[in-house]
Amino acid sequence: MPAPVTTRFAPSPTGALHLGNVRTALFNWLYARQAGGRFLLRLEDTDRERSSEAHATALLADLAWLGLDWDAGPGREDALGPYRQSARGERYAAAFAALEAADLAYPCYCSAGELELARRVQLAAGRPPRYPGTCAGLDAAGRRARAAEGRAPTLRFRVAPGETLAWTDLVRGPQQFASGDLGDFVVRRADGSAAFLFSNLVDDLAMGVSHVLRGEDHVANTPRQRLLARALGAEPPAYGHLPLLVGSGGQPLSKRDGSASVAALRVEGFLPEALLNHLGRLGHSYATEGWLERPALIAGFALNALGRAPAHFDRAQLLHWQREAVHRAPAATLEGWARGHVPPGREAAFTAALRANWLLPADAADWGPVVYGELPCATAAAAASIAAAGTAFWDAALAALAAGADYAGLVARLKATGRTGAALFRPLRLALTQRPDGPELHTLLTLLPPETTRARLVAARALAAAPAA
Ligand code: GLU
Ligand code: ZN
Repeated sequence: MPAPVTTRFAPSPTGALHLGNVRTALFNWLYARQAGGRFLLRLEDTDRERSSEAHATALLADLAWLGLDWDAGPGREDALGPYRQSARGERYAAAFAALEAADLAYPCYCSAGELELARRVQLAAGRPPRYPGTCAGLDAAGRRARAAEGRAPTLRFRVAPGETLAWTDLVRGPQQFASGDLGDFVVRRADGSAAFLFSNLVDDLAMGVSHVLRGEDHVANTPRQRLLARALGAEPPAYGHLPLLVGSGGQPLSKRDGSASVAALRVEGFLPEALLNHLGRLGHSYATEGWLERPALIAGFALNALGRAPAHFDRAQLLHWQREAVHRAPAATLEGWARGHVPPGREAAFTAALRANWLLPADAADWGPVVYGELPCATAAAAASIAAAGTAFWDAALAALAAGADYAGLVARLKATGRTGAALFRPLRLALTQRPDGPELHTLLTLLPPETTRARLVAARALAAAPAA
C-alpha cells in the first residue's frame, strides 16, 4: 500500500537551485513529513541541451545541506524509479501507445508556420488562439500522405469541447475551466520527446504522488494534466499552486539572480536552519513569529496556512533568522568560522567571547586580526579622539593594567580622570580596536592578550603626548 501522502520535488537541473524552487521543495517536504508520508525527488532532465550533470549534482548537494532528505530519488532508487526522466522514455512511449490505441491522441502534421498562421487569424478575429483541429480527422490514408511529404508529426491529445472541468486547488480554492478553451494539445514533440506536462503527469501517476505543491506558473497545465490522468485511467494528484516568490522590492527572483541561489547563501555562511525559518514563512504562516526548530517547522505546517499573495524574499529577514541560528549554533560550527583567522588553539575562546556579535563567517574573519593581529594606523578621526583623551587618561589605563585591575577597576580609574560615558569609552575602544563599534569592551579585554592591550595603550599615550599637528 502506498503511503497516503506522497509529495515530490521535480526540478529541472538546468541551473543553480534558487530560492523560489527550494521553497517549493521545502513545502512538499514539510507536508510529507508532517503527514508521515513520502517525499520523492525526481529530476526532470528531458531538456538535454540545458540540463547538466553538474547542475544535478549541485542540486542534490544543496537539498542535502538543507536537510531536505528524500525517501526515494537519485542516489536512493526504489521499484518506482528511475528518478530521472531521461531514463524513463519507455514509460512515456507506453503511455503514448495507450492513448493512440484508444484514439485519445492523434498525429498532427501541421508545420510551425501553419500553426502560427492559424494563430494570427484567430487573434485577428478576436478569438483566443487554439489548435484549429486540422489533423484531428485525418484517416490512415491522409496520415500516410502527410508523412510522405516528409513531415514529422507531433502527437496531440483530443479534448472534447463542451465540458466544464472543475477541481479544487489546494491553495487557490475551487477552479473551473471550459474544456473548449483548451484545444487539442501536444503531448509528444516532433522529435519524439515527451512534452513537459505529459512526462510530469505520467511520472506523478507512476510514482503514486498524491499532492503537488508547485509554482503558480504551472496553473495552466492543471486542467490539461487532469484530462490526461483521466484518459490514462488514473486519479490525478491534488495540485496546489504557490504564489511567486519575489524580491523585497517586488521584482521577480530568478536563478539568474546569483545572490538568490542556495549555493551562494551557503558559501556566504548562512546556516540551513536560518534559511528554513525564513522560507517556511514565505507564503505560509506559522502560529508563532518566533524561532522554530525543524520538528516544530514540520508540526506547524498546514496547507490551509498557505497564502495567495506574492511572497517577498527579504535579506534583512533572513539575517534576522541567521542571528537566531548563530545564537543556537553548536560551538564547533562557529569555531570553524574562526579557524585560520586566529592563532591555532584560540578558536574556542575567541568564539565563546564574540559569537553574540557574529552573523556570518566574514565577521569572524574581520575580528580575528583585530584581536590577534597588528592594528592599522589610526585614522585621523580616531587619532584625534585618542589624543584628546590626554596623557593622564592613558597613564591611568596603563596603571590599571599593571595593577591587574579587572574591567570595573579599569573603568573606575579612568572615571577618576574626569571622563565619563562616550568621552571615556570611545577613545578606549578606538585605542584597542581602531573601530568605533564592535563587541562589548569587557569581552574584548578578556580576549586581548595582555601584552597586546599594553602595547595599544602605550601607542595611544604616545599619540596623546605628541604635539598636535
Ligand atoms: N520541472 C518542473 C519545474 O521545475 C516541475 C513542475 C511541477 O512541480 O509539476 O517547474
Ligand atoms: Zn495538425
